[in-house]
Amino acid sequence: MVSRVIPVDPFDLVIFGGTGDLARRKILPGLYRRFRDGQMPDGARIIGAARSDIDTAKYRQFVESAVLEFVSKKKCDPEVLKAFLGCFSYVTVDALGDMGWSELAKEMRDDVVHAFYFSVGPRLFEPIAERLKSHAIAGPDARIVVEKPFGHDLETARALNATMAQHFEERQIYRIDHYLGKETVQNLMALRFGNMLFEPLWNAQYVDHIQITVAETVGVEGRGAYYDRSGAMRDMVQNHLMQLLCLTAMEPPSKFDPDAVRDEKLKVIRALDPVEPEDLVRGQYLGDDDVAPYTQDAEAEDSRTESFVAMKLHVSNWRWNGTPFYLRTGKRLRARMSEIVVRFKEPPHSIFEEDTGQSANELSIRLQPNEGMDLKVTIKEPGPGGMRLIDVPLDMTFAEALGEEVADVPDAYERLIMDVIRGNQTLFMRGDEVEAAWAWTDPIIEAWQERRDVPHSYDAFSSGPEEALMLLHKDGRRWRELRE
Ligand code: NAD
Repeated sequence: MVSRVIPVDPFDLVIFGGTGDLARRKILPGLYRRFRDGQMPDGARIIGAARSDIDTAKYRQFVESAVLEFVSKKKCDPEVLKAFLGCFSYVTVDALGDMGWSELAKEMRDDVVHAFYFSVGPRLFEPIAERLKSHAIAGPDARIVVEKPFGHDLETARALNATMAQHFEERQIYRIDHYLGKETVQNLMALRFGNMLFEPLWNAQYVDHIQITVAETVGVEGRGAYYDRSGAMRDMVQNHLMQLLCLTAMEPPSKFDPDAVRDEKLKVIRALDPVEPEDLVRGQYLGDDDVAPYTQDAEAEDSRTESFVAMKLHVSNWRWNGTPFYLRTGKRLRARMSEIVVRFKEPPHSIFEEDTGQSANELSIRLQPNEGMDLKVTIKEPGPGGMRLIDVPLDMTFAEALGEEVADVPDAYERLIMDVIRGNQTLFMRGDEVEAAWAWTDPIIEAWQERRDVPHSYDAFSSGPEEALMLLHKDGRRWRELRE
């Protein structure tokens, strides 16, 4: 199969925070993989910009060790790596002072795409934006990439949007939610809008319910202080789960264009009913012989922050009236697994005898691990012995269906960075989307704070609190098993 890749123009990409953890683990290895696959133009230049007082030679060593650590050995070719390192330079800048800005200005070439990745804490967004403008480094076509968290609540998100708007137009701002860069998430759109088979059934008449799960086995160790001020609702639901919900529930956009897609996503958030307290479950993990409890990881003995949340939501519109969306996310759970599951209704009438083993169709879209989709269908169990039905998966795991090369899909970050260079905002959150998501999230969090809600405990490496299982049981439904 010949893949058609949209070409990328020559660019100068400045990574503020280029010596940080995110750069080391995600951005630099991702850029290497794009380079190795021949998707970077000859004129690609990457400029690390951070506070560390190092030179270009030292920075190249940093980039090299990041690539060697986070790119699989099979993909690390010494010659390719050497050529890749040749794209890099480094400037020491102080986001809060004057140091380095005129040097950075000199590094930028004319007539290439300019992109600035803000891989730094949010308190530095404004000072960097200001300096990019006051030193005339970022022109009207420059693009800036902003990392989560985008605000802590509606008020701070609004303030951040307003600050950014003073320096940049919305078309220049790329707010990253790396879940949107996942291959399967885009495949969800291909599946829904590129086939005739699914969309006619994609509504309350045929869909019993939808489950969205983002489960992790890790705890909050190492980032407990940050996490304890945030919790699962702010850290995961307001952004990642909300985005997945939007793509699953939205109406077909008129075209696959940034504003058309984002308009439809925004309508979903605005159609969300407020959540009833009985439809929400918060949890906090306990420890065991091998791992510490949340309170110890977060170094907050009396913490009431949730490391798990499950909820039942209603999208209040014609399409989804009566079809609940169940969302759950948590840390220190049994498996690392993210998926969207669309459970269809059972056939209205069975022509077969009772208890033949038949159940409802289920479409599951796996984001991790093993990105792919499968559709559970009912067939006759082969062989003699009468009409017995069994459920079998129609497996669409990319690795098997498309062969190893194609299935070796780019990581979300690298795909999104290339979209920035191409100037395609479709997979990035718009300012009004982010604000709408906070406007929906804030009252829930405020209600917890007002009544000093205490999260339910759950065992480390379990499926979360018992109460989360009950959330579905009381509706006669069950969560999909958590497994990798
Ligand atoms: P980090 O603390 O590891 O790195 C921070 C970087 O900012 C360093 O390069 C440092 O030199 C630079 N920096 C700090 N103060 C500066 C100043 N005054 N002037 C210039 N540079 C300065 O942080 P990180 O984990 O890489 O995270 C960066 C951003 O990405 C944060 O907003 C974080 O919330 C977000 N994020 C990180 C991850 C992750 O996995 N690390 C995941 C999602 C989002």
